[in-house]
Amino acid sequence: MNVILFGPPGCGKGTQARRLEDRFNTIQLSTGDMLRAEVASGSEIGRKAKAVMDAGHLVPDGVMIAMIANRIDQPDCKNGFLLDGFPRTTAQARALDEMLAEQGLRLDHVIEITIDAAVLAERLAGRFNCARCGAVYHDKFQRPKVDGVCDVCGSSTGFTRRVDDKADTVKARLKAYDEQTAPLLPYYQAREVLRRVDGMGSIDEVTRQLEAILEQA
Ligand code: ADP
Ligand code: ADP
Ligand code: ZN
Repeated sequence: MNVILFGPPGCGKGTQARRLEDRFNTIQLSTGDMLRAEVASGSEIGRKAKAVMDAGHLVPDGVMIAMIANRIDQPDCKNGFLLDGFPRTTAQARALDEMLAEQGLRLDHVIEITIDAAVLAERLAGRFNCARCGAVYHDKFQRPKVDGVCDVCGSSTGFTRRVDDKADTVKARLKAYDEQTAPLLPYYQAREVLRRVDGMGSIDEVTRQLEAILEQA
């Protein structure tokens, strides 16, 4: 099953993708996580992408398309994938269609997590991740059960906050979403694969809505 999780920064894509992986025997492909790994490793892609990401702008299409083409070719994607953060532009959406067609694959669902723009700033300002496994937390909405210990991997080595979750950068990221990514919605709507879930509910409520769609497969 190949699915795109769609929606602005902070709507819950990463949180939900991680919850759905095991249940649906699929894998989360987060282009943001891939880019942050490139930055952390100091690779050439990472060095070039860092300034763009820190400014809240989009990394060039050519880089992103090559990254995803290489990733969906790997054996762990053969049962399907949940795309989180890709495609973000029309050129990326077209390139994805070509990649899938070449491999005889199709998109089963494109699911938009809808959200009031007013709550996004608070979601992003309170976000933090386990430094070891990347599990997503929030100061108010999703605290670890034991302070300082990751619920998922048990690590107590610490948590990280993203530099681009600062208020100024968030503004630029939301603008990039409105201008370059939201215009993809009609592209998928026209193909009748677009579904919507209400991202304003609790994390569990959103998961239930997504499961109901994916169970229909
Ligand atoms: P995205 O991947 O779309 O940018 P995340 O999954 O990282 O979004 O979620 C952003 C922040 O909001 C995280 O700190 C997460 O814990 C929190 N969050 C996600 N979904 C909800 C929800 N339904 N209600 C409250 N907080 C949420
Ligand atoms: P969020 O989950 O909060 O929406 P991401 O982790 O997906 O943020 O992305 C972080 C940053 O990585 C983006 O602001 C952008 O600079 C870059 N990025 C991630 N995916 C893409 C993509 N598909 N195209 C261009 N840039 C991307
Ligand atoms: Zn962890």
